[in-house]
Amino acid sequence: MKAINQRQEHTGSYYAATANEITDYPVLEGAKSADVCVVGAGFTGTATALSLAERGYSVALVEANRVGWGASGRNGGQVINGGIGLGSLRKKHGNGIAKIVQDLRWRGNDIIRERVSKYDIQCDFKSGFMEVATKPSQVRYLDECAEDRESHPSEFAYEVWDREQTRDMLGTDAYHGGFVCYRDGHVHPLNLCIGEARAAHNLGVQIVEQSPVTAITHGKRPRVETAHGYIEADSVVLAGNAYSQFEPKHLSNLVFPAGSYIIATEPLDDEVAISINRKDVAVCDFNEVVDYYRLSADKRLLYGGACNYSGRDPKSIKSFILPRMLKVYPQLKNVKIEYEWGGKVGIVLRRMPTVGRINDNVYYCQGYSGHGVCPTHVMGEVMADAVTGTLERFDLFADMNHFRIPGSQWFGNQIIALGMLYYKLKDRLP
Ligand SMILES: Cc1cc2nc3c(=O)[nH]c(=O)nc-3n(C[C@H](O)[C@H](O)[C@H](O)COP(=O)(O)OP(=O)(O)OC[C@H]3O[C@@H](n4cnc5c(N)ncnc54)[C@H](O)[C@@H]3O)c2cc1C
Repeated sequence: MKAINQRQEHTGSYYAATANEITDYPVLEGAKSADVCVVGAGFTGTATALSLAERGYSVALVEANRVGWGASGRNGGQVINGGIGLGSLRKKHGNGIAKIVQDLRWRGNDIIRERVSKYDIQCDFKSGFMEVATKPSQVRYLDECAEDRESHPSEFAYEVWDREQTRDMLGTDAYHGGFVCYRDGHVHPLNLCIGEARAAHNLGVQIVEQSPVTAITHGKRPRVETAHGYIEADSVVLAGNAYSQFEPKHLSNLVFPAGSYIIATEPLDDEVAISINRKDVAVCDFNEVVDYYRLSADKRLLYGGACNYSGRDPKSIKSFILPRMLKVYPQLKNVKIEYEWGGKVGIVLRRMPTVGRINDNVYYCQGYSGHGVCPTHVMGEVMADAVTGTLERFDLFADMNHFRIPGSQWFGNQIIALGMLYYKLKDRLP
């Protein structure tokens, strides 16, 4: 990882190449003040800032690089309700709390839909997300998905596809069936993040870019320090997630950065695009180490997966991901790959975001284990509630004990890599 004060432009992704605007907010200079200072302008930070601005608070949003520079501007764009695991929660806290969290899972989808419409954000939002079974033993998950949707009725339809329908809809024989949910969907994530930041800015949020925060001076009004200026605020929200290097005493050993990678083909002919995804849905398999893909608005196949827990990016992302794509779509072997990129996801062993407070007025929220597009929006609302004094939902998450791996600043990724080897082997079993 680059040093904390090295500023960077966007990675060479398809998203950066098709961004509605390359944001150019000023660098933080001199002394500023706000009710709340949010550090990190990914979805967590931007959603928190926007929620607070909508409630009339004065907010500063400080980004080391550019709005959406981190995972939020690089991801698979799958707008899915997952990412908050319920099994262990139910065991430990009972059905009541599990139900609250289950309701919250869907809140993220609703917030995104509301904001896209309210602020007229041009981000290619589409309904439809499909989970696919790569082996017979996963077919039972399709019924479980249907039961989950039944327990949460909504105006959005869902469909269960058998092997033949799945083959017909996705143009591949790779799957044994699929579950499609139209409450979920897909999006150009960088344009969503940029649009939300623009909406926040229009509501008065002071956004600064290219301003890495170097330290927090704690106190009654904590001070957020950068190279050329600082912001004092009543509360601070740390939202740097897998890219953050803050407060090691409190935050180290909780979130492990892992790499996930995507390639984008050249635009496909219309017939080819339709033949591999008739309903234009986002697709993700049920494996522990997932493959995920979707068509972009200009009909490229964006194919991602293969989380890398070693802490080192592959030399060639294309060589790493392309074989996975061709295993599902051998018919695309002559299609050109025009973009390849990766980003860091924050893995948490419990698969629930880690949330907490340092000295009462510095809050943090991080760790979505690769499924953050919707949960970040939920947590933005939860963080906004918390800093404005409503701690009910915040405490729910903050009270969950998260595992720390002692010494993980040295061994953490190796330990995770070892753990993931187990899951990779499990994925290969029939
Ligand atoms: C390749 C990839 C594919 C993914 N696919 C999906 C998907 O399809 N669906 C899904 O739900 N999730 C997906 N995810 C996960 C999802 O993108 C993340 O969970 C989510 O974007 C996290 O948002 P965030 O705001 O917490 O963190 P980030 O988006 O990483 O933002 C953190 C921000 O903080 C800034 N920052 C860090 N330190 C400082 C500092 N010192 N000073 C100022 N700013 C700082 C960074 O520059 C960065 O902009 C994917 C992730 C990756 C990498």
